[in-house]
Amino acid sequence: MRFETSRALDAVERRLSVDPLAAGGVIDLVEAARSVDLDGGRPAALLRLGLFVDALSRQLGDGGVGLYAVAERGAMSDTDFTSNERMVLRRWSDDGLIEMLPPGARPAARAREVAALTGLPLISRTPLPGHPGPVYLTTGASGGMELTLAPSTGSSPRPHPVLSRYWRCGATDCPTFGRQPAAGAGQPPPALPSGAPVCPRHGERLIDAGPRPVAMTMAVRIDGTVRARFPLTSARPVVVGRAPDEPGGITIGNWLTDESTRRVSRNHVRLELRDGMVLVTDVSTNGAGLLARTGSSVPPREVDLHRGEPKAMGEWDEVELYPEVTVGRADRPPASVAKGGAPNSVMADAPTIALRLPKQ
Ligand SMILES: [Zn+2]
Repeated sequence: MRFETSRALDAVERRLSVDPLAAGGVIDLVEAARSVDLDGGRPAALLRLGLFVDALSRQLGDGGVGLYAVAERGAMSDTDFTSNERMVLRRWSDDGLIEMLPPGARPAARAREVAALTGLPLISRTPLPGHPGPVYLTTGASGGMELTLAPSTGSSPRPHPVLSRYWRCGATDCPTFGRQPAAGAGQPPPALPSGAPVCPRHGERLIDAGPRPVAMTMAVRIDGTVRARFPLTSARPVVVGRAPDEPGGITIGNWLTDESTRRVSRNHVRLELRDGMVLVTDVSTNGAGLLARTGSSVPPREVDLHRGEPKAMGEWDEVELYPEVTVGRADRPPASVAKGGAPNSVMADAPTIALRLPKQ
């Protein structure tokens, strides 16, 4: 039992990320771990995070999406967690897999800040009227927990100017702002308690480390399942197709059926990021359409794309290369979600009874 629990926690660990480009939602870690109503088990269980990871995977059709978790140092001495869980929390913190705030800081407020700055959906147990972006709420319980987007209250704010710079923390070995991220990776947003960028872990004023290209993560979904994730930056456009000519193009030929192989062009659509907005251009021989939505709960409206003419995509819009072959933002659920269980479930190995076990 212990072995299976630790294996499930390892699976959860692989999905934790404070890189906004890898994450699909932001969560208050302790609030999630204390969601007793979901299973009626122990007051706090780290494994409950896995329920949220799986539910997010189902929403996005993405078995690789990350969860951006925020906690406060007090959690590492909270005796509602087992000693093993406290050790795991410390490791996640030291490795920079989660954001660990100083004692007394409010993780719920920081999670809201991260979501507002990055545009990532916030995962919350309680409605948050007035939050400027999408909010997932939990519905159901007893293993059937789902995340459901609250009716959206308008479009997300544009990326904050603070995200157009890299930041560095002066504290020794800061796992969050210690070194510049690798190419293709993002950086967590600084805390902005009074407007100036501050390290959320150390409270130190951050040092400007140079310009950062604006980036957004896009996903190719086939039959509702993500088959490719890729960062789109203002530095260069990306072509998606059966087998694009340009280096850096996204090849989806392997995932297509015989029929869709005939209908998806080698170079099908070109995406570019300009002024924080995604522009799509049909460069195919068979045509592409836009499934336009003004919000998560609105049915899509089909808009024709004119070959060679760039068109701006809204945050909920998807480009359709062929029915059920779409490209859209990786952190926004598609209009048609794949049926079935969570792809690449982190809880597949988890004994559900593990949540209910008395403390060991
Ligand atoms: Zn720091």
